[in-house]
Amino acid sequence: MTDYRIFADYHTHTSYSHGKGSPRENVLAAIEKGLDRIAVSEHGPGHFSFGVRGKKLAKLNGELTELKKEFEDKIEVLRGLELNVMGFGKSDCPADRDDYDVIIIGYHKSVPPFNAYARRIWGESLFGVKNDPHMNAECILAAAESCRANIISHPNLYLKVDIPYMAECCRQLGIMMEVNSARVTMSEEEIRTVKKLGCSLVIGSDAHTPSRVGDFKLASDAVTEANAWDAVKNARPII
Ligand SMILES: [Zn+2]
Ligand SMILES: [Zn+2]
Repeated sequence: MTDYRIFADYHTHTSYSHGKGSPRENVLAAIEKGLDRIAVSEHGPGHFSFGVRGKKLAKLNGELTELKKEFEDKIEVLRGLELNVMGFGKSDCPADRDDYDVIIIGYHKSVPPFNAYARRIWGESLFGVKNDPHMNAECILAAAESCRANIISHPNLYLKVDIPYMAECCRQLGIMMEVNSARVTMSEEEIRTVKKLGCSLVIGSDAHTPSRVGDFKLASDAVTEANAWDAVKNARPII
């Protein structure tokens, strides 16, 4: 069986939101782990409790620009953001979206519901009332398309989605679906399906501490089970 090396972690948080550690500590941890690329992708401004916004977001971005320069010989530092689905087709995408190297979007709780559909699914995810995975996928996909997201984080987390439908749309839109290594949110069967439908996967640590940067253990095990390594875009075969 071919072995694969994961060369990039696009999904890491810091003390700018509810994580621990600084962007610099994440970069140093990534170098230590032998990664070629590291993104700091903090929670977008729309998240009620963890969102990074305004002057704080500007400060973080300034810091990332400095880190890019300082470590350019050792690792590629990327400016990322993990946006929130704020309603049907809506996200907290910043006006300077094109200044970001990587845009992740995911469904999170603690986001104010801004329209009727969002209110309904929010109610369902919070109170466990029956919901419609197909509509949930549509809601997230419309938001992902509108912000030209690169990655949908942790599909199924808090809100079940129609994975085959999401994979088909993501393939067409060129969006990668994340196998999250903090908690694997897709079943082995679902990961297999995503690959079979020709959609790209990406493994993210979703680290909230520097020690977890580049920790891909849980996701790697799931991808191995599903025999889906060739669909993982941030992994290369070791020859
Ligand atoms: Zn998330
Ligand atoms: Zn995250």
